[in-house]
Amino acid sequence: MQKTEFTQPSHFIRQIVANDLQTNKHDGKVVTRFPPEPNGYLHIGHAKSICLNFGTALENNGNCNLRFDDTNPEKESIEYMESIKRDVAWLGFEWTQLRHASDYFEQLYQYAIDLIEHNLAYVDSLSAEEIRLYRGTLTQPGRESPDRNRSIEENLDLFSRMRAGEFADGQYVLRAKIDMASPNINLRDPAIYRIRRVHHQRTGDAWCIYPMYDYTHCISDAIEEITHSLCTLEFEDHRPLYDWVLDKLQTPCHPQQIEFARLQLEYTIVSKRKLNQLVTEKQVSGWDDPRMPTIAGLRRAGFTPQAIKDFCERIGITKQNSWIEMGVLEYCIREDLNINAFRAMAVLNPLRIVITNYPDDKVENLEVSNHPQREEFGKRIVPFSKTILIERDDFSENPPPKYKRLIQGEEVRLRGAYVIRCDEVIKNEAGEIIELRCTYDENTLGKNPEGRKAKGVIHWVSQAHSCPAEIRLYDRLFTVPQPDNEESFLDVVNPHSLQILRDCRVEASLRSATLENRYQFERTGYFCLDLESTLDKLVFNRTVTLRDNGEKD
Ligand code: ATP
Ligand code: MG
Repeated sequence: MQKTEFTQPSHFIRQIVANDLQTNKHDGKVVTRFPPEPNGYLHIGHAKSICLNFGTALENNGNCNLRFDDTNPEKESIEYMESIKRDVAWLGFEWTQLRHASDYFEQLYQYAIDLIEHNLAYVDSLSAEEIRLYRGTLTQPGRESPDRNRSIEENLDLFSRMRAGEFADGQYVLRAKIDMASPNINLRDPAIYRIRRVHHQRTGDAWCIYPMYDYTHCISDAIEEITHSLCTLEFEDHRPLYDWVLDKLQTPCHPQQIEFARLQLEYTIVSKRKLNQLVTEKQVSGWDDPRMPTIAGLRRAGFTPQAIKDFCERIGITKQNSWIEMGVLEYCIREDLNINAFRAMAVLNPLRIVITNYPDDKVENLEVSNHPQREEFGKRIVPFSKTILIERDDFSENPPPKYKRLIQGEEVRLRGAYVIRCDEVIKNEAGEIIELRCTYDENTLGKNPEGRKAKGVIHWVSQAHSCPAEIRLYDRLFTVPQPDNEESFLDVVNPHSLQILRDCRVEASLRSATLENRYQFERTGYFCLDLESTLDKLVFNRTVTLRDNGEKD
């Protein structure tokens, strides 16, 4: 059978771009942009758009700009801009130019004058509420504003006085003059400028009027000579407005808007506004909380750029909205970490074992490989001694059928070390097990015992050589697959989405763990060091379990 895994599956946007190149539609150029509004941190949905926009440019030797759509200053900030640049760069993409819609405020203003001069825009004194009432509904046409036939001269005068700050916020708006009876409500004389006295993070107090999104976006695309303006499906109904503005202004370049389906991921939320609510209402520790679907959260949880890009490629680009299972994202990170994570041993819930026939002061420095398949990862030293720690779960007094771990009177192998037998169980007065007394077979280092076979393999650390660590286990942030469909998504936040284990012990080599590396703790999952980790107190985050919960241990 032929291997196809290295060829990229195609999608309709790749096909459109390929056709356009063939017919020389945009002089053989491909220029895209990723246009976030800096009103929050980027999330996994944005990663889909980033991979599509930067990917389309990369695949065709084209360019891709990062453009901040910063026309809503009250919700935007420099912190958000910095986080967006950091996240795009971390995903491994380089923008051709860094632009801001605010770079074009003067041009946008001149274009608005152009529209007024062509009797295609007017200054309206209706209030926001009146405009809404006049707009009509899907079944009823709208009504024309009494100001619609204001003279060009008067419109020019009022518009320049709007800019000069002569009017109160909301007193006037500039509207495009299109068609109040259009079946497409977006074409019923949409507002294109409003008066808003807010300080802008880049232009300061230079402006008290700000252009609206639809008007700004198409002109910004045209100024940057974008060839393919890729956006999500909800903008399909805005495309006629996009084209109207550029047609009327006769911009030298008229980009082609193409819509694709947003990513919707189960058990989480992809909306900056709602994620912001989780942060401000302290449901999470911040935008980079490892439970958040933000790029910053995924990074802190241990996700890699490769896994996220792989995920975006797998889910594909279509015109149908659909929900993606969290399992798809988890599959991608497991695939990556299985190949690229260092192996190590950590005991999350320790139970002490004393090996009674092991010499008191003896320590053996065992050499253990860092990865079972990748020799180039080298080996590390794991000290073995008389007192070791294993997982409480790896011993049972009442073992279920087919239990392959330690039980009294039976043998088990310690990963990378010896076979031990459990002889005695020590309990405290409350009846809790506090220690196991075992014996080891000194002829079993790296080989099977004579004439018999130990049933299972368990992980361990030497008590005296291991380091204390805090390990944070994360679960889904919501209890239902589509929290957006609930009355309030805040009602379905999973109260058990974070479990902190404070008494863990990890092998000595993890003292030199780095933020860049990823680790598979044998038999427990994939982990990475957390930002809050210190040498005195190591902190690890669980990125993902070893297997899907549905699968067997
Ligand atoms: P949010 O509601 O989270 O703020 P948005 O669409 O308003 O989302 P923008 O900052 O305007 O966010 O988005 C920048 C780009 O990312 C846009 O082109 C947008 O279509 C795209 N995008 C946003 N969310 C998704 C998603 N879930 N799936 C795919 N693309 C997305
Ligand atoms: Mg938005």
